[in-house]
Amino acid sequence: MIQEPKGKFIKVRCNCKNEQVVFGKAASEIHCLVCGELLAKPSGGKTKFVARTLEVVE
Ligand SMILES: [Zn+2]
Repeated sequence: MIQEPKGKFIKVRCNCKNEQVVFGKAASEIHCLVCGELLAKPSGGKTKFVARTLEVVE
C-alpha cells in the first residue's frame, strides 16, 4: 500500500474566491480566513475537503 506523505499542503478555493493553503491532515475544522466558510474537516484520520481543491503544495 502507498502511504500518504505527511506534511502535505493542499491549496483550496473557497466559494468567495479566496485561495488558501491548508494542511493536508487537518486535526480540526479549517475555515476560510475571509468569509469563515468551512473548507475542510477531519474525518477518520483523513481530511475531508468541502471546498474545491486546486493543487497539492509539496
Ligand atoms: Zn471564503
